[in-house]
Amino acid sequence: MSSIRINDLTDQHKYSVSFEVFPPKTIDKMENVVSAVRQIADLKPVFMSVTYGAGGGTSDYTISIARDIQEKKGVPMMAHLTCITSDKQQIQSQLARLRENGISNILALRGDIPDGFTPTQIHFRHAIELVREIKAFDPDFCIGGACYPETHPEARTQEEDISHIMEKVNAGMDFLISQMFFDNASFYSYMYQLREAGIGVPVHPGIMPIVNAKQMKRTLKLSGSQLPHRFRRILDVFGDDPKAMCQAGIAYATDQIIDLFANGFHSVHVYSMNNPAVGKAIMDNLSDILR
Ligand code: FAD
Repeated sequence: MSSIRINDLTDQHKYSVSFEVFPPKTIDKMENVVSAVRQIADLKPVFMSVTYGAGGGTSDYTISIARDIQEKKGVPMMAHLTCITSDKQQIQSQLARLRENGISNILALRGDIPDGFTPTQIHFRHAIELVREIKAFDPDFCIGGACYPETHPEARTQEEDISHIMEKVNAGMDFLISQMFFDNASFYSYMYQLREAGIGVPVHPGIMPIVNAKQMKRTLKLSGSQLPHRFRRILDVFGDDPKAMCQAGIAYATDQIIDLFANGFHSVHVYSMNNPAVGKAIMDNLSDILR
């Protein structure tokens, strides 16, 4: 394996930004996606991650996009990997492919449970089981996991959710990336609880720039994140004006990132939505901070 481990990378920078991208659903969209993702790589993020479809056409594309960017653009890559719909053999074959393609960073996830999912046997019930499988397959993989500042929607309490994060870290997760949030105060309070629980691994806050009103509705539905009053006002006033909303959304995300840097978080993960223009605007806004 050849890519540098995420923890070593972010340690080398005072402040850094990484980007998440996603593969196309169908092969005919591959060219457009690769072009957008390469433009995002040109913004020189500290690393990039490629999402993984929980079952469906996109799984194979995750690795090919990660390899393309790592080889052609020299940006270290992380591949997401979900397990709920896979058996042991499928996971092992994905791990072998990741190793062959020089990808040593994995975001180990359970994945969302598809509607009507009734398998005869579940091989991996939670992300922790995937972490154990990866460790047994090759302990040299650098493994990240997800955490939820506003609590995972299936968890009964935040304490219970945090205890499962603790178990994942004890099983070998090297770092965590947070679900998106729009209120930094709720993230800081969550971080206090993670540290109180004894979870000491690096946590990369996840920031989603919201650049149109439609995206906001979809995002809130998928993530379950709360929308603070301050952002609601922006949507009310600028939501119907696409250019103004885009500018306001980028400013809001930039403001969140600067506040995170100022409060001791050194590496922020930006959900790019495969949009190079938005990525560029954010990097431009931070140019003197990241230099
Ligand atoms: P888990 O850690 O298994 O947790 C799921 C739930 O089970 C939580 O409520 C937790 O408290 C509970 N739990 C955990 N362990 C145990 C246990 N041992 N016993 C009982 N309960 C337990 N989805 C995709 O399909 N593809 C992607 O590429 C993708 N990327 C993501 C990236 C980030 C940064 C984030 C935050 C999410 C991503 N997701 C992705 C969504 C993710 O798959 C879902 O949020 C999923 O519902 C949970 O995944 P997890 O790895 O957090 O699961």
